[in-house]
Amino acid sequence: MSNENRQFDAVVVGSGPNGLAAAIALARAKKQVLVLEAGDQLGGGLRSAELTLPGFVHDMCAEVLPLTVGSPFLSTLPLSEFGLRLLQPPIPLAHPLDGGRAAVLDRSIDRTAHGLGADGAAYHRLMEPIVAGWRPLLGMLLGPFRWPAQPLMLARFGLAAILPATVLARVTFRQAPAQALLAGVSAHSILPLERPVSAAFGLVLAMLAHAVGWPVARGGSQRVADALVGYLGSLGGQTRTSVHINSTAELPRHGATLLDLTPRQVLPIAGTELPNRYRQQLASYRYGPGVFKIDWALETPIPWQAEACRAAGTVHLGGTLAEVASAEAAVWRGEHPARPFVILAQPTIVDPSRAPAEQHIAWAYCHVPNGSTVDMTGAIEAQVERFAPGFGRRILARSTRHACQMEAHNSNYVGGDINGGVQDLLQLWTRPVARRDPYATPNPRIFICSSATPPGGGVHGMCGYYAARSALRQLSISAGRG
Ligand SMILES: Cc1cc2nc3c(=O)[nH]c(=O)nc-3n(C[C@H](O)[C@H](O)[C@H](O)COP(=O)(O)OP(=O)(O)OC[C@H]3O[C@@H](n4cnc5c(N)ncnc54)[C@H](O)[C@@H]3O)c2cc1C
Repeated sequence: MSNENRQFDAVVVGSGPNGLAAAIALARAKKQVLVLEAGDQLGGGLRSAELTLPGFVHDMCAEVLPLTVGSPFLSTLPLSEFGLRLLQPPIPLAHPLDGGRAAVLDRSIDRTAHGLGADGAAYHRLMEPIVAGWRPLLGMLLGPFRWPAQPLMLARFGLAAILPATVLARVTFRQAPAQALLAGVSAHSILPLERPVSAAFGLVLAMLAHAVGWPVARGGSQRVADALVGYLGSLGGQTRTSVHINSTAELPRHGATLLDLTPRQVLPIAGTELPNRYRQQLASYRYGPGVFKIDWALETPIPWQAEACRAAGTVHLGGTLAEVASAEAAVWRGEHPARPFVILAQPTIVDPSRAPAEQHIAWAYCHVPNGSTVDMTGAIEAQVERFAPGFGRRILARSTRHACQMEAHNSNYVGGDINGGVQDLLQLWTRPVARRDPYATPNPRIFICSSATPPGGGVHGMCGYYAARSALRQLSISAGRG
């Protein structure tokens, strides 16, 4: 590429939240940083666009941002000074069941427990100690594996978190609403709910609902990227768009390379600079199911049967624990469930700026087998219609992307996998390869900073932050030698 002859301390390839977090951590350490992005817009999974009709601003990927506001790194950045406003819906999450009822995950543990009736006390016992220690717990969970600062707290969380979500739901709760609620939050793991550790994702997301809420960004998630880029610029960091890197040989002169990429792209770009054994390990990295994504422009709010759903930023559509578990298991068998588990967000209930007056948008996806090209529009809309009769008549326009189109939009979503690789017990802490420092590669100049490193998917920037720390250690060693 023609990027000047100047020398950068570090070049970051990819401008997702992890790439930008890495660049910021490096720039704060007074390093000269350049971020190169293949797309024409910075932000990776944070991009927003008018996908349906003029005036309707949709989030192309991430929408709901509990991990952003809870992130031990991103939460320390002055992003509000760069235009970011996070908006909290009245209720973080509702999970409707047939018959017009819904389980509600409220900001308050007490109100959530109260709404769960006979399971309320059990919910309180499960969540109260986790929420009380949320900050140190999140600090331990959102990073590479290391000896925990508070082993007892982690052990107490771990006893519940290691369980399959189906087991935790059935031993803790007796009634359908609480069981379904736990199933829905756990299904964000994109694991079969019968698998160990699937409960961990549900517990962390429920904990965050109580601790920090499940906000959306005013104006769309692109505003998070814009604020990160603005702050990076104020630190002297540089960015370029529409630069697709095919090989590290194309990069301008620099010290460290940080790749906001998953193993599938790291191999062609940097493979020749990595030893055989490491290349083989990257090649055996496992990707999980993909997603089918849909965005709607709507004439009115969604006519939910259950009142609580109207005030919820996120709504989980899939019915009971057994139904959600069966839909997720089907995806892992390579099938497209007729009644998929759908994660739906309705940001315009708190952010009218994202649609013309009185009109609305909604965002949803369901899991599908990796590499799927099947159109799930009908199945997803039937799930919405099941809990919001008349929904179909409110649709002004829709935009859809199947799993392969998700990958075409962003090559990090291999086969539509939005977590940058399977997040099961075997690959959660060992991503992309089991190493003491998973961000470093055997080449002392090359680092991986994407969600294919711990702690995995989500807009928390912690993969980037830890990769930058690793690169800074190496840069200071090189400076010492130089
Ligand atoms: C449909 C969907 C819904 C989601 N919902 C949420 C949510 O609600 N909340 C949440 O926290 N997370 C959500 N996520 C997950 C979140 O978006 C990702 O985990 C996160 O964006 C990963 O960040 P990253 O920096 O690792 O990579 P990415 O955000 O994927 O960024 C990688 C960047 O690298 C660029 N790139 C790739 N190859 C090259 C190349 N060769 N040269 C130059 N640039 C390149 C890409 O264009 C991209 O911009 C969702 C994701 C999707 C797809």
